[in-house]
Amino acid sequence: MTKIGIRVFPDNIEKVSKLEADYFEAAVRPGNDLSPYNIIKEKILGIHGAILMQECNFMNPLRKKLGTNDKSLTSAIEAADKFHVQYIIFHPGYIERGVYGERCNLRQLYSTMNQIKDSRLLLEIVPVFAYKERNIFPLHSVDDYKHLKEKTGKNIMLDIGHAMINARAMKYDPIQYIGNLIEELDIKIMHIADNDERKDGYEDSHLSIGKGNVPIEEILKQFKSKIELATIEVNQISNKDIELVRKYLE
Ligand SMILES: [Zn+2]
Repeated sequence: MTKIGIRVFPDNIEKVSKLEADYFEAAVRPGNDLSPYNIIKEKILGIHGAILMQECNFMNPLRKKLGTNDKSLTSAIEAADKFHVQYIIFHPGYIERGVYGERCNLRQLYSTMNQIKDSRLLLEIVPVFAYKERNIFPLHSVDDYKHLKEKTGKNIMLDIGHAMINARAMKYDPIQYIGNLIEELDIKIMHIADNDERKDGYEDSHLSIGKGNVPIEEILKQFKSKIELATIEVNQISNKDIELVRKYLE
């Protein structure tokens, strides 16, 4: 049966620890004090590593040179050991707009990933246009992600909101595209949040479940026997989001 989790940050533990989740996915950034997580430590099954905002970008050789990528990896792996988690999730990286963006490349990502032999480490499906800068991740099709899995030796995690942005941007049929990602990449762990066409259509707004048009209900109903862990990452999370996801998985 699919377990339902919630993404948690050091500053919202008090609030979300009271919700009816089966587990938590804890955000870990270099230098984070992990002690606030102690009250939920038995229920942490995943670690979300640092993202671009913390200068982690596996496609950017400069981030590697400055040490921020390695620090992000080390802090996440240390936390994973401490809490005995099942998975560690990272974004693969982006072609950054602005500073040193022209140096970003996929080979940099592949070489970093090949150096880490940790089967807990997963790469997340990210939007082709990400963050307010609309940084680009050049892979999007199911075949692209199969290639990424092969080249990095890492399993892939689905973020259904990110995949929906790809479907809008690339004019893919959302249910077919997301279903094929799950089947062909053998996806077992996913992130769930809603979004819609606001702004340019590529806004990852992390809306409550059912407030956008991501096919969350259809996909969960169709693939409930395949998905083992479903982590909700909506902005204003409440028990209502958990109840809806639980209903779709029944
Ligand atoms: Zn996500």
